[in-house]
Amino acid sequence: MTPPDLVVADAAVPGRDGRWTLVCAAGQVLELSPHDPAARFPEARVIEAKGQLLLPAMTDAHTHLREPGQEWKEDIASGLAAAAGGGFSNILCMANTDPVNDNESVTRLMLRRASEAWPHGPRLFPVGALTMGLAGKQLAPMEELLAAGCVAFSNDGEPVADTELFRHALEYAADLAPVIDHCEDPYMAKGAGANEGVMSARLGLRGQPDVAEALQVARDILLAEYLNAPVHLAHVSCRRAVELIADAKRRGAPVTAETCPHYLTMTDAALFGYDTMAKVNPPLRTDDDRLALIQALREGVIDILATDHAPHAAHEKETPFEDAKNGITGLDTALGSLWELVRLGQLSAEDIAQRFAWRPAEIFRLPHCRFAPGDPADFCLFDPEQSWVVTPETLRSKGKNTPLLGQSLTGRVTLTAVNGHVVYELARAGA
Ligand SMILES: [Zn+2]
Repeated sequence: MTPPDLVVADAAVPGRDGRWTLVCAAGQVLELSPHDPAARFPEARVIEAKGQLLLPAMTDAHTHLREPGQEWKEDIASGLAAAAGGGFSNILCMANTDPVNDNESVTRLMLRRASEAWPHGPRLFPVGALTMGLAGKQLAPMEELLAAGCVAFSNDGEPVADTELFRHALEYAADLAPVIDHCEDPYMAKGAGANEGVMSARLGLRGQPDVAEALQVARDILLAEYLNAPVHLAHVSCRRAVELIADAKRRGAPVTAETCPHYLTMTDAALFGYDTMAKVNPPLRTDDDRLALIQALREGVIDILATDHAPHAAHEKETPFEDAKNGITGLDTALGSLWELVRLGQLSAEDIAQRFAWRPAEIFRLPHCRFAPGDPADFCLFDPEQSWVVTPETLRSKGKNTPLLGQSLTGRVTLTAVNGHVVYELARAGA
């Protein structure tokens, strides 16, 4: 048997009492066993967790890493740096690059860049375009994209208006890989970055109603049921959509759904003062929507968390509100911002493991760690007591566009390992 080469000792584990020791060898889990202070592992690197939480490394099913074509916002190297620092082992990256990832040469370029910059992970899994150039006119070559390494298909950023085309996409993709849909009626308040409601009226901003999202959610559910073909609903932001998904799941529809940390922790009140950092699509909605999403996530109506990490450069946000780009950078702050909800008792650490690590890896058929023997040694250590201030310097992403800038978060990822390789370690003061 391969001797242990990496050990995490004295860790807390969600859902289990006491302290635990994780023993790994050759990139895999050997065992997770009750902590024994007398145990010795002479050939291993032993990481003393000192009671920090040991979590499975997470899978982010929704990021925009901007390479090729918009490297001033982010590139694959900096995006994966942020992923490692955020506690992620698997990252799906969307196809709205320039050129669009609608052919195998772009997919292969993305994978090459990832393996050059981060040969030991986090692992990059490109999402292929659903339609050529994301133009919504002609299907992309899905089998070619799949063979090159794509794990899902999406027109994210450019919702498909043509229902007949979208139906064929679902039919064709059903035997290949999941389709991820950005649900937004493409005619109703296109591109608006504010929820239509009291706040948009007060600020005099053009708003996008939650109905624009729910209309497309309803369409996708009906098609998925009619065709018996799965669909994954991206970044659900409102109660209306949650209710449609809950009904669909009661009927057994082949539908899965995600929401993002910012929809669980912020509302459109963040737009006050025309803060372009809070401009995102779908827009931040009301507190009623936020509470509905938290409950849906706990109950599994919403299957997974994903960041919709959407980095932009400073000059793309330092504009009048209507001109600012939509998007919030999310990989660096995901766990720290969600931890506020854990402290309030609205989510549990087990919810985070289930919804941000295990379930997304299941949906997209990716390697993941449940701490069983033979699982890939993909984990992170999280210090739930450590407070830190979100500053441009603490974000490893090139994108500094988050309403959390200047705020203090309690809870921080201190170490991330992928396949037993430590890919991130927070430098300790004085160390
Ligand atoms: Zn989207």
